[in-house]
Amino acid sequence: MFRFCCAQDPRETRPPADPLMGGDRAVASLKADLSPEATILLPGDPAYLTNRNQMWNHDNTHNPAAIVVVRSTKDVQAAVTHCRSNGWEVCVAGGRHSLLCMVHNSVVIDLGKLNEVQVDVENKTVTVGGGTKLGKMDKACDEASNGTLATVAGHNPDTGVGGLTLAGGYGHLCRAFGLTIDNLLEAEVVLASGEVVRASEEENADLFWGLRGGGGNFGIVTRFVFRLHQIPPKLVYTNRVFLPLPCLFNCETAVSQVRAYMEESDDRQMCTAVIPGNGPLVFDTIWVGECAEGWKEVKSLDAAVKSPFFPPVTRAEKPYHSFLQNIVSETLQPPGFYYMRSKLLTSLEEGLALALWGHSRKAPTGSCLLIITTTKGKMNEIPEDATAFAGREGKYLLLVLANWSDQKDRAACVQWARECDGVLAPFVGDQQADYSTAVLEERNTLTTAEEEKKGAAVAGAFGKNLERLRELKRKFDPENIFHLNSNILPA
Ligand SMILES: Cc1cc2nc3c(=O)[nH]c(=O)nc-3n(C[C@H](O)[C@H](O)[C@H](O)COP(=O)(O)OP(=O)(O)OC[C@H]3O[C@@H](n4cnc5c(N)ncnc54)[C@H](O)[C@@H]3O)c2cc1C
Repeated sequence: MFRFCCAQDPRETRPPADPLMGGDRAVASLKADLSPEATILLPGDPAYLTNRNQMWNHDNTHNPAAIVVVRSTKDVQAAVTHCRSNGWEVCVAGGRHSLLCMVHNSVVIDLGKLNEVQVDVENKTVTVGGGTKLGKMDKACDEASNGTLATVAGHNPDTGVGGLTLAGGYGHLCRAFGLTIDNLLEAEVVLASGEVVRASEEENADLFWGLRGGGGNFGIVTRFVFRLHQIPPKLVYTNRVFLPLPCLFNCETAVSQVRAYMEESDDRQMCTAVIPGNGPLVFDTIWVGECAEGWKEVKSLDAAVKSPFFPPVTRAEKPYHSFLQNIVSETLQPPGFYYMRSKLLTSLEEGLALALWGHSRKAPTGSCLLIITTTKGKMNEIPEDATAFAGREGKYLLLVLANWSDQKDRAACVQWARECDGVLAPFVGDQQADYSTAVLEERNTLTTAEEEKKGAAVAGAFGKNLERLRELKRKFDPENIFHLNSNILPA
C-alpha cells in the first residue's frame, strides 16, 4: 500500500572521495595481507558504486575512499591494522540500515560476506557471522527446528544482526525473552589493536558487558552466538485497521482504547500500533505463547478495543519466522529515502497517544510513519548496570520514520520528524535518550549546535553506564579508531 518508486537519486551529487593516504602502495600492501577472495573497491570501479548504493536508506550521499569486502576474521584483522597504520578512518558496514555504515572519505570494512549461520538444535544456540542479516538467521532457525526455535530479532529481515545487537535489539519476542543482547552468549571481536578475542560471561567479561549496548565502540564483531527459545509452531496474530472516516468512525476513541489495552496487556502479548501520515490506525498483536491462551486473550482484546465492521479484523494462527517476521519489511519499510528518530518511552499516557495521532495528521507524505511498539516485560527485569544498555525502564519504543520519494518533500519530512520532539516534550521531558539523533545525523552536515546536541544525546543514551563505558573504551580503543558510531570518548 505504501510502496513507491524513487524518482531522483541525490547520491550522485556529492564530490568523489579524496585519494587514500599512502596511495597505490598502501592499497597493494593491504591487498597482500587479505585472503584471495577479499576485494578492495575504489572510486571509479563500477563494483564500488554498486556496493556503495546497497543501503537501505538512500539519503546517504557519502563516498568512502575505499570499500574492503572481507571474507574472514583474518581479513578484518588485516583491514583494521592497515587502517590504523595508514591513518585511514575506519567505517564498518553490517546490515547497512544506519547512515553511519558508509561515511565520506573513510575506509569501509564491509562485513556482508561474513554471513554464515549455524543452528545447534540440541544446545539451542545459533551462531552467525558479523555481517549476517536477520532474515537469514531467522530462516536458518526456522528450517532447522520446524519453526519452533527462535532468538529475539528485529521486525525487518533486512536489518543486520551486528548493528541491531550492539545497540540492544528489540523484536516481537522481546517482551517474553528480553532484548537481543539478553540472549547473546558469546562474541568474537577484532579489537583496535588487531587482536582477536572472545567475549562472554566467562572470558573478557568487561568487554562482553560493553558490547551489550555499547554499539560498535569496542571492536568489530565477526561472530555472535545467541540463545534460542522454544516457541509454538504458530502464534495467534490479530490485525485491525481503523480508517479515519470522521462521519462513520471516531479514530481518537480507537487510539484511546488501543493505548489502554497496550498499557494493561500481558507480557506475552506483543502490541504494535502503526500510524501512516494522514492514514488509518493499524493495530497488530502477536501472542508469544500457546495458541489456546492466545485465543483467550483475543477475547479480552475484542472486548477492550471496539473495531469497525470494515475492514474486517484478522484473527489467525501464523508461523513466527516465515510470516510474522516479514510483516513490516515489504509494505512499511522498503529501501528508500528516510529520516528516522526513535524514543524509548517509560509510559504512554492517553494525552501523548492522542498528540501523536494529531502529529501524524500533519505528516507531509502518506509514507511517513509513527510506530509504537510495546517493549515492557523481560527487559525491565534486568538491572540497568547488568549490561551497557541504558534504557531498561523503557516500556514502549516510538519510531518516527519520515519517508519521501520526491526530493522536494525532504525538508518538510525531516522537519516533521524533528517536530515530534516537541510533541513528546510535555510528556517525557528531556530525560529520554534519543538514540537515533546520535547515530543517524549525517556527519559533515551538523552545525556546532547540533554537534553539541549529538554529544549530549550520546551521553544521555548511555546514562549511568557512560563512565564505565569510557573506561572500557580507554582499555580497548584508546585512540578511538572505532568512532563512526554513537561514539564513546575514551576516559
Ligand atoms: C527499517 C529499519 C527497521 C529497524 N527495525 C528494528 C527492530 O525491529 N529492532 C531493533 O532493535 N532495531 C531496529 N532498527 C534499528 C537497527 O537495529 C539499527 O539501525 C542498527 O544499527 C542497524 O544495524 P545494521 O547492521 O543493519 O546497520 P549498519 O548501518 O551496517 O551498522 C550500524 C552500526 O553498527 C555498526 N556495526 C554493524 N555491524 C557491526 C559489527 N559486526 N561489529 C561492529 N560494529 C558493527 C556499524 O559500524 C554502524 O555504526 C531498524 C532500523 C531500520 C532502518
